[in-house]
Amino acid sequence: MARYTEAKCKLCRREGMKLYLKGERCHTDRCAVERRPYGPGLHGRRRGRKPSDYKLQLREKQKVRSIYGILERQFRNYFAEAERRTGVTGANLFTLLEKRLDSVVYRMGFAPSRAAARQLVRHKHVLVNGDVTDIPSFEVRVGNMIAIREKSRNIPMVVAALKDCAKRERLPFVEVDDRKMEGRLVQEPQMGDLPIPIQENLIVELYSKV
Ligand code: SF4
Repeated sequence: MARYTEAKCKLCRREGMKLYLKGERCHTDRCAVERRPYGPGLHGRRRGRKPSDYKLQLREKQKVRSIYGILERQFRNYFAEAERRTGVTGANLFTLLEKRLDSVVYRMGFAPSRAAARQLVRHKHVLVNGDVTDIPSFEVRVGNMIAIREKSRNIPMVVAALKDCAKRERLPFVEVDDRKMEGRLVQEPQMGDLPIPIQENLIVELYSKV
């Protein structure tokens, strides 16, 4: 499966904000955005002209793709699905993205980043309602029980991630029993729950043009 393999911190520096792609390091002063708060590359420090509307829309879309680790075609499919469902397209888009299994595993604190959560899922360490599910894009539904398989509960990354997660508050749409390493999606994720500011209207405007 194709995926982005370059330095993750570059993505944050390009957007000028923390996207929390690397786990615990993102919460320390070793974060690249804190150490080098300017764009990556030779011209990263250059002050550009006022960005066009198109550039703002494009950057917002790329930012969201980077956060969820999704390639363009899959992102477009999510947008098409968000448009098809009843309700507001931008809000639907984020609900769909947050309900991906890798995203839910990350939000529950079983992995330090979405990339790590995706690997956990792919390597069959995660159960959905008691069944092994190895598809990161699987859509979790409200009430589904997500758990780490019994034989995988000693994986150091999972143990460390849960320990780190205990220092921070979880988002309101998940409930987790840390001891049992299982949790539920208790409500539909809402835009307002997300910790990173996102202007979904820019993405809707961008895709409405094509
Ligand atoms: Fe982004 Fe995390 Fe790297 Fe900071 S440490 S730049 S938040 S990926």
